[in-house]
Amino acid sequence: MNAPVLDIRDAVKTFTSNRSLFGAPTIVRAVDGVTLAIEDGETFAIVGESGSGKSTLARMLVRLIDPTSGEIRYQGRDIATLRPAQMRELRGDLQFIFQDPFSSLNPRMSVGRIVGEPLETHTDLGATERRAKVAALLARVGLRPEHAERYPHEFSGGQRQRIGIARALASGPSVLIGDEPVSALDLSIQAQVINLLQDLKAEFGLTLVIIAHDLAVIRHMSDRVAVMYLGRIVELASADALFSEPLHPYTQALLAAIPEARRGERSPRHVLRGEMPNPAAPPAGCRFHTRCPFADDRCVAEAPPLADAGAGRQVACHHWTAISASGAAYRPPVPPPMRPATERRFALYRDAARLRQPETERKPAEEKTDANT
Ligand code: ADP
Ligand code: MG
Repeated sequence: MNAPVLDIRDAVKTFTSNRSLFGAPTIVRAVDGVTLAIEDGETFAIVGESGSGKSTLARMLVRLIDPTSGEIRYQGRDIATLRPAQMRELRGDLQFIFQDPFSSLNPRMSVGRIVGEPLETHTDLGATERRAKVAALLARVGLRPEHAERYPHEFSGGQRQRIGIARALASGPSVLIGDEPVSALDLSIQAQVINLLQDLKAEFGLTLVIIAHDLAVIRHMSDRVAVMYLGRIVELASADALFSEPLHPYTQALLAAIPEARRGERSPRHVLRGEMPNPAAPPAGCRFHTRCPFADDRCVAEAPPLADAGAGRQVACHHWTAISASGAAYRPPVPPPMRPATERRFALYRDAARLRQPETERKPAEEKTDANT
């Protein structure tokens, strides 16, 4: 096991909102005691329904927001306690890719300035060298050097996300954090951007932390997966283990909800019931008990800790061993399902050479000739 590059200890982030007219301010514990070590060079995924605290956690990892309490250690140093000058040095190491490529790029800045700005902050390069470096970065993400003169609105969503990735790469980061980096893109573009990220990860030896909605994407690209529910991690495992033998009832319900999971041993008790509770008033005990088919009195009264489940796995459930032993657990079909359309998407773009071309110029797959092979 590699040394952790990011070591998160009991991180908590609360938000206070004053929206109710008379009542006391509402406090949302968006992240409520997360302890987690992200290893150097791995692709670590965070999944969970909307509102479970994924973005808040991801933003704390790069100090876009400060934790309310707890530690976020990067290479052994707690980034929340660093002074601005020290933090500036680290900023280049920890880079973030935003979900929405339409709002995350400054519309008044040329692409050259957007990508070149981190070079001014984090390197000693002169103007000419910076221009050359920007051109190289644009080429590396599949854009053209002359795109540096243009403005964000002239590009498609996929191209803008490539610009965002080029900017993130400019400072020579060791950790790249993507908060649903492809969710806003057309399906046909998603796999291209995912594959680009994987190429870059291999080329630059990056650690990738990725939040994604599409479980097929997670399965395709990640080494380990953390499942979050109402601010807490409920399960952590290798992607292989998680997708073949989910232990937590919530993970089971998430996997059973994938359409092609219908081929598997799904029973009504594996269908995720009801809505997620209000994060400002989470259930006592196990937070999942209100939706869990296996919950009993103990679950209502007592929160299960995230405990070792063997083979490097962790699960926060009082009853996971009994559920597994009784045969009531959901088991995804073997091999775990990947939507045929998703499979095709990845197959279509697996050719790494083609990824380096701008998507607008790429020929449809049918026109590709394989005359020499
Ligand atoms: P996810 O990314 O998993 O959808 P978030 O981290 O965005 O979850 O949000 C977790 C919870 O924290 C949600 O209930 C959300 O409404 C709340 N939250 C997030 N950011 C803020 C904020 N800036 N102010 C108030 N509440 C917030
Ligand atoms: Mg989010």
